Amino acid sequence: MLDFKLSLQREPRPAATEGLYDLIILGGGPAGLTAAIYAGRARIHTLVLVGPLPGGQPANTDLVENFPGFPEGIEGQELARRFLAQAERFGVEMRYESATGVDFSTRPFVIRTHGATYRARSVIVALGAVPRRLGVPGEDKFFGRGVSTCATCDGYFYRDKRVVVVGGGDSAIIEGLYLTRFAREVIVVHRRDQLRATRIYQDRAFANPKMRFVFNTVVEEILGEKTVTGVRVRNVKTGETSILEADGVFIYIGMEPQTEMFRGQLELDERGYIVTDRRQHTNIPGVFAAGDIQDPYYRQLVVAAGTGAIAAMEVERFLEMYPD
Ligand code: NAP
Repeated sequence: MLDFKLSLQREPRPAATEGLYDLIILGGGPAGLTAAIYAGRARIHTLVLVGPLPGGQPANTDLVENFPGFPEGIEGQELARRFLAQAERFGVEMRYESATGVDFSTRPFVIRTHGATYRARSVIVALGAVPRRLGVPGEDKFFGRGVSTCATCDGYFYRDKRVVVVGGGDSAIIEGLYLTRFAREVIVVHRRDQLRATRIYQDRAFANPKMRFVFNTVVEEILGEKTVTGVRVRNVKTGETSILEADGVFIYIGMEPQTEMFRGQLELDERGYIVTDRRQHTNIPGVFAAGDIQDPYYRQLVVAAGTGAIAAMEVERFLEMYPD
């Protein structure tokens, strides 16, 4: 159980100081921007440090089919654009910077970016998660030049080519299906003999003549001289290795929470996710977390948005109780 007793060292409330906000939201994805919409409507003086991917993961997604309100689905980039526009409409300040360091030991909390230092009476951490990497030879060498974690960004370069997709979850299958628009063949390499992806996506993938599946297999190396020519794979049941020829490799093996910056300040679980209670409080009063950075289980847009809303409502209560 987290201890939410307020034990903060207080500083006297400074006069209206530039760089001091009632709330700073770290991250401009679905969680952060939903929190921003709620905070803006509650007239909380709010800054969003949007970070490198405005709109968050939907901006790297082709079609979002499971966000309520869009019966035909909505393009991920369009949804991301709408999240940003809606947050801006309610008067929150957006800066396209990333936090590089935080000090949560005293209140107001301190947040640094490359060019500035900000202070905040409360913080919502909503930095999300980044794609996990395989850690095999060739991956770094060809990253951005044949190895990718974003089919929406790079799929177009693989017209009539053959690509390998690594992973068996929703991302691998959804993005693999997207890649069939361009590639002549999409080979899904998965370490088990069953996909993890939701049934509806599995059914679509198995029915797609451009998709091929290589099960019980791991990628050991990404091959090539100047460009990717294939992957060396190993069958985990037989131990046999072989080469799959391919022009590109898309890696979808899950996500890692972006929590290194908070280590030693916020309580993290054994996988590095921020620990929160059901009201999105962290172990530090006044610091809240929302979205994928604190969610190892669901990692859904609608859940991220929901936790963002909860965090903002809790900030409102917190600031009423502890305005200084
Ligand atoms: P995920 O569900 O964690 O799946 C990761 C996949 O990669 C699994 O199949 C896993 O294998 C495999 N894997 C993990 N580490 C590996 C390694 N080192 N080498 C080889 N394979 C490895 O991740 P995700 O697909 O990115 O999805 C993340 C979350 O977002 C999920 O909750 C998913 O439902 C959600 N999501 C939802 C949608 C949607 O609903 N529209 C779209 C995308 C993502 P095992 O199966 O053996 O563990």
